Amino acid sequence: MKEILNFINGEFISTGVTFNKYSPINNSIIAKVHAAGKEEVDAAVEAAKSAMKGIWANFTISKRIELLYAVADKIIKRFDEFLHAECADTGKPYQLASTFDIPYSAANFKTFADIVKITPTECFETPTPDGRGAINYSIRRPVGVIGVVCPWNLPLLLLSWKVGPALACGNTVIVKPSEITPQTATLLGEIMNEVGMPKGVYNVVHGSGCNSAGEFVTNHPDIDAITFVGGPQTGSTIMKAAANGVKSVSMEMGGKNPSIIFSDCDFLAAIEGTMRSIYINCGQVCLCTERIYVERPIYDQFVKAMKEKTEALKIGVPENDITDMGPLVSLEHQQKVLSYYQKAKDLGATVVTGGGIPQMPGKLADGAWIEPTLWTGLDDHSVIAREEIFGPCALIQPFDTEEEVINRANDTKYGLACSLWTKDLQKAHRVSTQINAGMIWVNSWFLRDFRTPFGGSKESRIGREGGIHLLDFYTELRNICIKL
Ligand code: NAD
Repeated sequence: MKEILNFINGEFISTGVTFNKYSPINNSIIAKVHAAGKEEVDAAVEAAKSAMKGIWANFTISKRIELLYAVADKIIKRFDEFLHAECADTGKPYQLASTFDIPYSAANFKTFADIVKITPTECFETPTPDGRGAINYSIRRPVGVIGVVCPWNLPLLLLSWKVGPALACGNTVIVKPSEITPQTATLLGEIMNEVGMPKGVYNVVHGSGCNSAGEFVTNHPDIDAITFVGGPQTGSTIMKAAANGVKSVSMEMGGKNPSIIFSDCDFLAAIEGTMRSIYINCGQVCLCTERIYVERPIYDQFVKAMKEKTEALKIGVPENDITDMGPLVSLEHQQKVLSYYQKAKDLGATVVTGGGIPQMPGKLADGAWIEPTLWTGLDDHSVIAREEIFGPCALIQPFDTEEEVINRANDTKYGLACSLWTKDLQKAHRVSTQINAGMIWVNSWFLRDFRTPFGGSKESRIGREGGIHLLDFYTELRNICIKL
């Protein structure tokens, strides 16, 4: 049986206390994960603190970048190991992980290093009464030890999205991967040693949240800042923990993202884009669409086309080239999504397609499979329109006017992303400026450029990362004033 260890101060640490990692495909046990207790978390924080004061503190930005480039190159070199581990943990199709999760994770170590290297700081000439003047200039310094708490949906991608910039800025990290997807974080520890990353710069502690590694990290007095991706309830708990030491937090949380389909759109492009936005990663991406508003003249045609496309999706095991959708990440999450499928039926929704569990052969029947599902016939007040389900499903509703659809799209506690489909770019801009969300895609969805800000409004998030915005969280500005 595979054993997944903690990675502390450059060493792989077993603890003797293990928990099972189950396959989403068939619910078999695929690994034993060594849970970190308080003692291991203390050791990891101590190592990270020492590295901050020791050799890491003397690394120039160029030297840090050299190491981060080496990390990226090694991930690509050991591509298949990362691919197998990630797909075994999550059940996602190889064709998705091999074109998205793994290459983009490697890229995160390069792109953010490049951004940190080229971003200037400010300098001002300041007049003084004696006429000699002064110069004020700012320097950026690392924040210190960063706690990185990750979710299970894009384990390596979101980890690297945090660890890449944190290390580029000169911080050290304690990563707490999701207990459901522990493998790639530990594998990355091997890479850190191979490239010669100083001990204690990158640490991994395994376990869950409450009274476990997650809580031990986020409550630790010597953690300087916490970056978190996960659900809003957990985010709120972590903020309370961070309040104790007045630590800064960066939070990426859920969404109930709308897609707005105007009747003047490129119909086929809107269908393709919306399909991707609902079903990618089995609907387990915070940016996924779960509410679709279609202008009434094309509503029936849109529902019909989505039904046909959805029914053509191929559900299957990750390694099969033709698999469009794997299982959900766990049986527990399957139960959560199924509970919404039941609620939709109870509320009288029209189930356009799906609504249950697909028939899978043999041992696969024990996995966390789920049918891609579309509903119509519910209003904006139903739980299906209001709560994040985080599964491969969406509610489709008609709309009549621009003002109406803006109000309905904004009528949510979330504000992460929105996509609009129209050929009228004036309308696209007009509507985009009125949508209360951090990211708006027009005639596209999830078309990311790492240089742009990433984040949301309302309960979806605190702060922005991506591009130069990462510097606001991962560094502190110091101003130096020199009297001439
Ligand atoms: P979760 O909030 O349950 O867990 C996230 C992480 O927090 C895990 O590592 C977990 O162990 C840890 N955790 C849980 N309780 C904790 C506690 N009390 N103290 C410290 N750590 C704790 O989320 P999840 O179920 O892993 O992920 C799904 C959720 O994440 C969804 O709501 C989804 O929308 C959200 N998400 C958001 C984004 C984004 O970028 N906005 C990206 C991915 C996922």
